[in-house]
Amino acid sequence: MIHEILPVGALQCNCSILGDETSREAIVVDPGADLQRIQTILQHHGLTVKQILVTHAHIDHIAGAAKLKALTGAPILYNPNDLPLVKMMDMQAAWLGIPTPEVHPPDDTLEDGRVIAITGLAGQILHTPGHTQGSVCLHVPGQNLLIAGDTLFAGSVGRTDLPGGDGPTLIRSIHNKLLILPEQTIVVPGHGPNTTIGDEKEINPFLQ
Ligand SMILES: [Zn+2]
Repeated sequence: MIHEILPVGALQCNCSILGDETSREAIVVDPGADLQRIQTILQHHGLTVKQILVTHAHIDHIAGAAKLKALTGAPILYNPNDLPLVKMMDMQAAWLGIPTPEVHPPDDTLEDGRVIAITGLAGQILHTPGHTQGSVCLHVPGQNLLIAGDTLFAGSVGRTDLPGGDGPTLIRSIHNKLLILPEQTIVVPGHGPNTTIGDEKEINPFLQ
């Protein structure tokens, strides 16, 4: 599998490009900004984007999704529980001091347990509310990979003080949905360095 992780935008959101070497189909997760760089990587690998996944509707994760859809024709998928955050896009843009991006309701929804597949690559959506009500993670068991959005970070967890956030819900999501995954699972958080489920079980101070 091709997996490129590129931190995009002012908040350095980790955008993941997942591609299959044979079919050259790809999934892009969290194209928050820097569409030019994302396109360059797609072209470098000769990839065709089939799906655009958004782990949650915070501006740093979703802001480039409509542009990427316009460029590729791929549908945008996210969990509809984050639609209240989409309605607040003006306010989110004001927090960052950037122009309000074009954001639409999802073309298709990411519900818990939904299978996400392109030719040669299959994953499953885990609904992990807490950072936002619609936060999801993408688990790719064949690659021992979890794309965690802002639910779980190396040594930390997502903030819960923004609209829609809830601390106990977040911790429950992490325990019930993420810490049950194999310990060697590589976690790609929404910001910062990768970690593993095993490491976070052992050392994450928020999960002891
Ligand atoms: Zn966030």
